[in-house]
This record gives sequence, C-alpha cells and structure tokens, in this order.
Amino acid sequence: MAGTAGKFLRGLKARGMSMTALIALSIIAAAVVPLFLLTALMLQSFSQTQLDARGIDIQNQCMILSSRMSRSGYLTAEQKNNVALDSQMQSIADVYNGRIVIVGSNFKIVTDTFNLAVGKYYISPEVLRCFNGESSSAYNREMQYFSNALPIYDAADGTTVQGVMMATYSTENIVSQADRIWGSASLLLACIIAVVVIFAVLAARLLMQPLKRLQRAFDQAALGNLDADIMVDTYGDTRRLAQSVQKSLGKLRAVDQSRQEFVSNVSHELKTPITSIRVLADSLMSMDEAPVELYREFMQDISDEIDRENQIIDDLLLLVRMDKSADSQMKVEQTNINEEMEMVLKRLRPIAKRGNVELTFESFREVTADVDRTKLSLAVTNLVENAIKYNVDSGWVRVSLDADHKYFYIKVADSGIGIPEDALDHIFERFFRVDKARSREVGGTGLGLAITKNVIQMHHGVIDVESTPGEGTTFSVRIPLNYVSGQEVRR
Ligand code: ADP
Repeated sequence: MAGTAGKFLRGLKARGMSMTALIALSIIAAAVVPLFLLTALMLQSFSQTQLDARGIDIQNQCMILSSRMSRSGYLTAEQKNNVALDSQMQSIADVYNGRIVIVGSNFKIVTDTFNLAVGKYYISPEVLRCFNGESSSAYNREMQYFSNALPIYDAADGTTVQGVMMATYSTENIVSQADRIWGSASLLLACIIAVVVIFAVLAARLLMQPLKRLQRAFDQAALGNLDADIMVDTYGDTRRLAQSVQKSLGKLRAVDQSRQEFVSNVSHELKTPITSIRVLADSLMSMDEAPVELYREFMQDISDEIDRENQIIDDLLLLVRMDKSADSQMKVEQTNINEEMEMVLKRLRPIAKRGNVELTFESFREVTADVDRTKLSLAVTNLVENAIKYNVDSGWVRVSLDADHKYFYIKVADSGIGIPEDALDHIFERFFRVDKARSREVGGTGLGLAITKNVIQMHHGVIDVESTPGEGTTFSVRIPLNYVSGQEVRR
C-alpha cells in the first residue's frame, strides 16, 4: 500500500504536483483511513465478543449435560429412562443451532440429535483423546462452527470414561449478523467519505488562496512591474516568502536604477568633450581670418579634449572588464609590494613636484604578497594621484606600507582639501566628484576611485576613508597576503 502511495505521489510530482490536490488528498486520507480502521476494528471485536460469549455458553451447557449423563448413567441405563436427558439434549442442540452426538465405548454412535448417524462408528482424534479423559473445545473459523468433546463417566466409579459427547454448533448467524452491520456501516462510511471529500476540496482551495494570490503578484513582477505590491501576510510563510521576493525585487530595482544612471552619466561624460570640441571648431570656423597662432591654440585645446574623451573611454572599458568575472581577470603572482610601491611613487614624483607637494614613503617591513601587480599599481596610483591632485600648495602626501601575518596595509594620507562628510559615502561611485570643475581641471574622469575599489575587492581586501575638510584625507587599504579565489571564498 505504501509502495502504491509512493508511486502515486511520484506520478503527481512528475506531472507538476498541484498543492491543492495534495492537501485535499491528505485531508481525505487523514479522515478516511482511521475511520475505516476504526469501523473494521469495532466490527471485528463485536463478532469476536459474540463468538466468545457463544462459545462459553455452549461449553457450559455441554458440561452440565455431560455431567448429568455421567451421574444418571446415561450409557448404561434403559432407553426409556433417558427420555428427559434426550429431550434436554435436543433442545440445547436446537437453541444453539447445533448437533449433539453421543459416542459409546465401542465408538458406535448411541444418540444423534439429527437422527442420521445412530449405530455408525465415530473415530476422530478428539474422540480418542476424550476417551483418555481429555475434553476439548475448538472453533473452526473457516467452516464457522464450534466443536466440544466431553467425556461421559461411569456413574458407579465416576472416573472410567464410558462414552463421549461430541457437540458441534454453527456460528453462521453471528457472522451474517456482522456482515449485515458491515453493510449498513459501509453506507454510512460512503456518506461520510462524500462529505469529507467535499470538505477537503473546499478547505484545500481556501488554504491555497494566499499562495495563488502570491503567484499572481509574482507574475505581475515578472511582467516588469517591479513596484507591484506582492505582500500576502495571511500566513507567516507567505509573509516571509513575499518579503524575500520583495528584497530581490528591491535589488533588481536598484540595479535597474543604477544601470539607467550609469548610462545617462556615461552619455553625459562622453558628450562634454565633444561639446567643447564642437564649440572650439565652430568658433574657429566663424572667424574669417583667424591668425595661425589662434588656430594652433584652438587645435591644441581640441587635441586635449580628444585625449580626455580617450581617457574616459579607457577607464570605462577597464571598469566594465573588471566587472565581468573577477577571477578570470586576475593575474596573481608573488610580488614584492615594497618595490611596487617605490615604482608607483617614482612615476608620480614629477607630478607632485609640479604641484609643490612633498611625497614620502615609509615602509615598516618587507612585504611579499600574492597580487595582480598591474591592477594593484593602478589602484595605488589612483589614490596617490588624487592625494596630489586634491592637495594644497606646499602640502604633503605620506604613503606607508605595513603587514601582519595575514594582511598588508597601505595608507595614503594627504594634507589636501579634504572631502565633506556627506560626500564620503559616494566617492567610490562612478562619475562622482565633489567639485566637478576642479576634477576636470586636474584631468579627473570621476572613475579613478571606482576602479581602485574594484581592484581591492578583486583581491578580497577592503578600503576605508577618513577625511576632514580643509585638513586632509587618509585612505586605508587592507589586502590578504595570500590570494584566495572567489570560488574558495564562497565555499
Ligand atoms: P576623479 O577622476 O575626479 O579624481 P575619483 O574617482 O578618483 O575621480 O575621485 C572621486 C572624487 O573624490 C574626486 O572628484 C574628488 O572630489 C574626491 N577625492 C578623491 N580623492 C581625494 C583626496 N585625496 N582629497 C580630496 N578629495 C578627493
């Protein structure tokens, strides 16, 4: 039965199980199976009790009869003296729908209430055992009859077995009575099952309604309506489910919004140099006889704007490439971080000098780590370059390197203009600039810190910033000495 149920459930699963059907089936099974078992059990115990009572009754009557026969010397007495006992025997046999046979010591039947077998021999294991003084009582379930074998003793000594009384009684009427009860019970059961089925289907539909509502809401969201109200708090489960989906939708909305913002920012950023070029070219063309020097100057400006456009495109491509799959983009190798830092600073020293900024490097120990050398130099270059760019005249930039057993730490501190507190949360966003004009003036694209943060995250490191406007800014970077791939981190 369990196997069939399992097969049925697997079939339902394969066809895409309907939860409504499953709930309805569960309710039906929970109500009907115990009902069936209870009815069957009650009927069974009813007929058993009836049979037991009948068995005891019959046995008692037979014992009374056999002891009377023993006392009155039934088997030795004259036929006419046994009339009373014979009629008692007949009436017991009639009342209990049975047959009583008295077997004499020569195994010949002396009396038979059916009057069919008088004078015939009756030899059976029960009779033989009874002649040895062993009475027996049995119930034949298949043929539905009781059989009792009781000894009839000699009246004189009371111990010698003179004959055997074999009594058989049919229990058919008890069984047919049970069958009749089962018949009416089945009718009642069928009515109850019908009610249960109707109730189960209605209850299952009612229970599933919140899920159906949830599904309709999800469908709305799938059609692109990310703001659809999907909260269904009928059950704790549906509320939690709706909350999870709401969270995912919120993230989708954020991604969608940031994508839109990014696209509009990119277009705007790319358009700015082109607009400048157009203005420069138009003004040149509107002049009838412009001197060659003016042409040169304007062409130089146009060339600068083209460089800027190029720079923005290069930075954008770099960011997009880094956004793809971090692991496959990484060329990790054992790197002497001190040497790498020295090289970055060497390249930036002329710019610092131009800005009259003092650039120093302090290393607390030799650090070797698994990093992508090119990307790390790019990240540090962006930080130091910013520290120089957004500095004051005669300012300073202090770069330091330290490590412990797990991480290495880079600090870039400057005495520059600082970053206002409300801007601190945004400086790592693409195209964010505190002062657009100043950034443009110093050749910024607004993508430098976004690239730096990406690189550090690709190394599973963190970057932090502290700043006081008018006093300076400190960027702190922490990167693990040993590179762990993204997959391993997730594991
Ligand atoms: P940009 O190309 O404009 O420098 P970044 O992404 O490198 O773009 O930096 C974003 C903005 O953060 C800058 O425009 C600037 O306003 C601010 N910023 C970055 N570094 C510093 C710093 N060391 N001191 C002051 N402001 C800074």
